[in-house]
Amino acid sequence: MFQFDIITLFPELVKPYFSESIMKIAIEKKLIQVNFWNPRDYTKDKHKNVDDTPYGGGAGMILATQPMYDCIMAAKQQNKGKVVFMTPSGKKFSQSKSEAFVKNSKGGLILVCGRYEGMDQRVIDLCVDEELSIGEFVLSGGELPALVVIEAVTRLLPGVLGNQESHENDSFSKKFKRRKKYPVYTKPEIFMGLAVPDVLKSGHHKKIEEWRNQNLR
Ligand code: SAH
Repeated sequence: MFQFDIITLFPELVKPYFSESIMKIAIEKKLIQVNFWNPRDYTKDKHKNVDDTPYGGGAGMILATQPMYDCIMAAKQQNKGKVVFMTPSGKKFSQSKSEAFVKNSKGGLILVCGRYEGMDQRVIDLCVDEELSIGEFVLSGGELPALVVIEAVTRLLPGVLGNQESHENDSFSKKFKRRKKYPVYTKPEIFMGLAVPDVLKSGHHKKIEEWRNQNLR
């Protein structure tokens, strides 16, 4: 079982995603486990503040240092996997990174979702193993990026996908030399005047394989 621990100020935003489809089934089959940690539960000041002003001034708030640190450290007690901070300034997430997590992250990941203007650099230096971005754009929080990583990793776990939809035939897989998948077609043979390539109807497996390899994008 692969264990995901999600550190977020907004667990209720994230939870519904696990109530349908592949993620739900993966939980039911005990292939993954998902836990939530809210830094708000780790505040020590009486106002339960989870943000604070930036040194050096400027717009926006920063995630409060102590609750983030205590919350991440608490999660680390229960998950020996890598601690990943989602941030636009991180390294670009990829299929090969996903594969590496399945192989080398001790059966788990702790995903830290940022908010506001991000997290104090010292908390990153003390607690975080990797900083990852899902692309060159800015969202309001790390919740969607964390779900992106969790879903990409979950698809790769044995037993999650049926044989037919195996991840081995996905874009960016090793089999496709990390390239994008060939075009796919279904019925009817002619749609709006456009035909399915003849070779795909030939039943000739070797030629079909060749066509598919030549049409990777
Ligand atoms: N001001 C910051 C962005 C803050 S966005 C900057 O310029 O870098 C608030 C939070 O959303 C971030 O801490 C991060 O956790 C998340 N986030 C936004 N865009 C993201 C992206 N492309 N990839 C990963 N996380 C992202």
